[in-house]
Amino acid sequence: MNLKEQLLRWYHLNHRKLPFRETHDPYHIWISEIMAQQTQIDTMIPYYQKWLERFPTIASVAEADEMDILKAWEGLGYYRRVRNIQSAAKIIQHLFNGQFPTEYSDVLSLPGIGEYTAGAICSIAYNTPVVAIDGNVIRVITRLFGISDDVGKKTTIESIKSRIIPYLDDNNNRYLTQAWMEMGALVCTPKQPKCKDCPLKEHCYANKHDLQSVLPNVAKKVKQKTEEYDVFLNYNTEVINVSYDDSDGLMKGMIRLPQMPKEKRIVEPDLILKHVYSHKIWILNVYVNQFQCDKMRDMIHIKEIKKVPMITAHKRILTLLLESD
Ligand code: SF4
Repeated sequence: MNLKEQLLRWYHLNHRKLPFRETHDPYHIWISEIMAQQTQIDTMIPYYQKWLERFPTIASVAEADEMDILKAWEGLGYYRRVRNIQSAAKIIQHLFNGQFPTEYSDVLSLPGIGEYTAGAICSIAYNTPVVAIDGNVIRVITRLFGISDDVGKKTTIESIKSRIIPYLDDNNNRYLTQAWMEMGALVCTPKQPKCKDCPLKEHCYANKHDLQSVLPNVAKKVKQKTEEYDVFLNYNTEVINVSYDDSDGLMKGMIRLPQMPKEKRIVEPDLILKHVYSHKIWILNVYVNQFQCDKMRDMIHIKEIKKVPMITAHKRILTLLLESD
């Protein structure tokens, strides 16, 4: 058996039965791929299932109120993703007659869809012979072929791509794409890869030269920036002050508690909370019913607060301070 046959055989016997892998519907695959970005599979599955119940068609996404789609996404973070989904759904309605496009270049032209996602959708839904390179695939291919260049560089990704292209074909591509990904998720894991059980071990450069711990070559990340803010939780038994000010460009459209850059104050905060995003850390000094600020013009009935889409950092504050009352 050659490498491709070994890989496919392993995949058919061992792959996880994930709900979005049991379908060839491009809409379902698209939603799952966007949700899986920056989110663990176990976490995103219930969101994926609820999303398809709430928005069963592309048309239903295009026509939905933005607040409803943000609410369905609440907790997944990176809300730009869901806004792009709705923009793309509207384009599909207008330019593609409501049908998800079948050409790779058309798929790639939609908002929020990059090369990886377009490759995953086209190969899994239509068997198109295109590559889909995510972190799992990068790990498997760099180890398998001994590619030691920095994987943050475009030229390294091109070199990884060139190693996969010879294996593409029109009949098996949906399985090959998923096989590379599953290999990275289940066998060729970041730490302690299961080389003894690996179907590709005889072909593997890293296994032969004991290089699993140094491949892939990932350059060190830039340190996250820390920002400190004051947050004002002002409420009574009826209403709670909220803010629609998303001028910081983060999580546009999501409701938040009034927040401003930290100032020197004579009173201590009621709570200090650290919230870690992938690119920055927020230190939040929370004051309860202590201050007024000009971002406090808007109010929501306290019983409605759980129903509106709110940024996760501030939801944590409400959970800690209101639900413990
Ligand atoms: S032999 Fe080990 S390092 Fe090589 S592809 Fe398999 S699991 Fe990865």
